[in-house]
Amino acid sequence: MMRSAVDGAVPVRCSVCDGTLTMRFRDALDPESKQKFDILACTVCGLGHTSPVPADISAYYSSSYHGSRHSVTAQYCAMRRARLVFRSGCRVGRVLDIGCGDCAFLGELRRRGFDPVGIELGTNVAALHAKFCVRERLDEIAHLSPFAAVTLWHSLEHFGDPRQVLLQARALMQADGVLAIAVPNADGWQARVYGPRWFHLDVPRHLHHFCVPALVRLIGDTGFVIERLYHVEFEYDLFGWIQSAIDCVVPESRVLFHKLTGKPSGNQWVATSFGLLAVMAPIGVAATVGGAWAGSGGTIIAIARSRV
Ligand SMILES: [Zn+2]
Repeated sequence: MMRSAVDGAVPVRCSVCDGTLTMRFRDALDPESKQKFDILACTVCGLGHTSPVPADISAYYSSSYHGSRHSVTAQYCAMRRARLVFRSGCRVGRVLDIGCGDCAFLGELRRRGFDPVGIELGTNVAALHAKFCVRERLDEIAHLSPFAAVTLWHSLEHFGDPRQVLLQARALMQADGVLAIAVPNADGWQARVYGPRWFHLDVPRHLHHFCVPALVRLIGDTGFVIERLYHVEFEYDLFGWIQSAIDCVVPESRVLFHKLTGKPSGNQWVATSFGLLAVMAPIGVAATVGGAWAGSGGTIIAIARSRV
């Protein structure tokens, strides 16, 4: 809870457009470290910035962070994402997934005949990574380029310099290659309703908080042309509505998330959380569908193509 415990720098300029930053809100709680962070927003493009930026961000990823983050929806999620790549016209070749987590998406790509390569930090999922070509840094897989597609499923917001990541991705792609990015929408309905209590804020692991204008600008500035924008990832959006609502009522954060994904947690609030799940589920479905329809969902997915 001690603000002074966070060792890190306060961002002063926007990571996407170099605009000035103003306070969006203070004291967003990290339920894992119990530390609090501010969110600064760019006055030009709207990109949110976590402040301060921890000097050692790896300290905020527990050993149980990776793996099973999608619980029972993992296979459905991987199939849907693979379909998005397929529909973009990329149907064969080597695909790079930056932030591949537990490799569920890499497995789905392999089943569809692609040659998957992953980037992920840490060695706590080494056993899964042994089945695939997974490295920690982009320069370690440069010899495997050019890639037909590069994907970042909820990973771009974790990087300190998202512009540099997309420039590096662009350099590794074939001409006319496909870029697929999914990020939480920090300007969507659920982000606005819950503010600092929004489940998908996830400070300080999310160093940036995208809105449509910021993401569109970043993609365009780094050598890509956007072909399609989507405004929902159904189970991701739905869970954001439900867990955020529970966190407004229950003193212990993320109880439902920890139970559903097999993470360590106490048992005191489990029954209450599942009771609230039953109440919130229909409301969450309606809000998810409404947000997607209004272009103000909990997720932004961008499908883009590298400019030739
Ligand atoms: Zn900006």
